[in-house]
Amino acid sequence: MTAPKWFTDGFPHVWLPYSQMQTAPTPLAAKSTQGCTITLEDGHELVDGIASWWTACHGYNPPHVIEAMKHQLDVMPHVMFGGLNHEPALKLAKRLADLLPGDLNRVFFVDSGSVSVEVAMKMSIQYWINKGVKGRSKFVSFKDGYHGDTLGCMSIADPEEGMHHVFNEVLFEQFVVDVPRSPKQLEEFDAFLAKHKDEIAGVITEPLVQGAGGMKMFSPDVLKNMCETVQKHELLFIVDEIFTGFGRTGTMFAIDQAEIVPDIICLSKALTAGVCPLACAVAQDHIYEAFLSESFDDALQHGPTYMANPLACAAANASLDLFEQEPRLEQVKHIHQKLRNALTPLQSIKGVKDIRILGAIGVVQVWDIKDTNWLKKRFVEEGVWLRPFRDIIYLTPAFTISDDELDKLTGTIEKVLTQWSEL
Ligand SMILES: *Cc1c(COP(=O)(O)O)cnc(C)c1O
Repeated sequence: MTAPKWFTDGFPHVWLPYSQMQTAPTPLAAKSTQGCTITLEDGHELVDGIASWWTACHGYNPPHVIEAMKHQLDVMPHVMFGGLNHEPALKLAKRLADLLPGDLNRVFFVDSGSVSVEVAMKMSIQYWINKGVKGRSKFVSFKDGYHGDTLGCMSIADPEEGMHHVFNEVLFEQFVVDVPRSPKQLEEFDAFLAKHKDEIAGVITEPLVQGAGGMKMFSPDVLKNMCETVQKHELLFIVDEIFTGFGRTGTMFAIDQAEIVPDIICLSKALTAGVCPLACAVAQDHIYEAFLSESFDDALQHGPTYMANPLACAAANASLDLFEQEPRLEQVKHIHQKLRNALTPLQSIKGVKDIRILGAIGVVQVWDIKDTNWLKKRFVEEGVWLRPFRDIIYLTPAFTISDDELDKLTGTIEKVLTQWSEL
């Protein structure tokens, strides 16, 4: 079928994410979504295995979330957050504070995950300035980490990876170290912090799984040891739960499995169930209190125009309702078991290097993916939406996915990977 007019007219005017526009395959024309299905303009249906970049945790168009947004749309789609507050934001802030452990009580709303990380970094730097401690402006982050695409976020990503290195010349210099998986690495991490702590504002990590860096996983014990080492040196510990938050790893937050309380946590992606953008950085009381004084200079210097957008906050509140009313974490457990059963045998396909499962995340890592476009094309032909990247093919489905849909996804991965191994 030929592309619709809106596509041929408009496509010459958009610039796609992380794409070499000269050679990138033409994107597909999406028409509508429902449940775990994406319908294309030509009527072709795709079972979505990745929930639109890990956001659509209740499937597409969740009725309760859509209803809440429709109501909010009539009442007040947006109002500035400077000088004015509103029910959706304050309700959401209280609910997040109640859900998060310890003193994680102060919510700063922004529009995207990257900006929530920027805010966490600014909070950390200014925290030390407000306390009168000089020179603590650098961050420690981890190899294979990813925290977003803005300049500050790029500076704490793994410099070896392919996404940001062209900007190396302008990026702030940070410390990027190994995830302390082994006792020896933990000792080295400890020694590193002891040596550099006077330069360090904070340590930032993705908990339990490093998403965009290739779905690299580590245990709750590793996270716990990391946190305890950071806190032993009285440095700030920032956890980026933008991917992992809201059930993805099997608990509401990944930090719950390590029973730790970071100083600041960043949330986004599934926060609004994938219907619209919203993110936040949530700080412990002691961070917030370091900004209280008679001087405006001590105030947190940040404030996005669309901060705490009421529509987005209404969506997030409705999404939290669904986590309370429906057995989401049970569904994650069920998906986990099914992924384990279906993906583990793929280890025997030639070229497969590793199979990793955590919560509702299933990863097939290969030795060398060669041509991701071939895989992407084959998956679409088979009626599934999967986006292999680097050396992995992964599943992060909606928690509401049916057994049949999940079987279709894992069965297609097996079929296509087998063909791929025989190329
Ligand atoms: C997606 C992601 C980000 C960036 O969020 P955006 O909304 O794309 O800016 C940051 N950190 C992690 C762990 C992510 O997965």
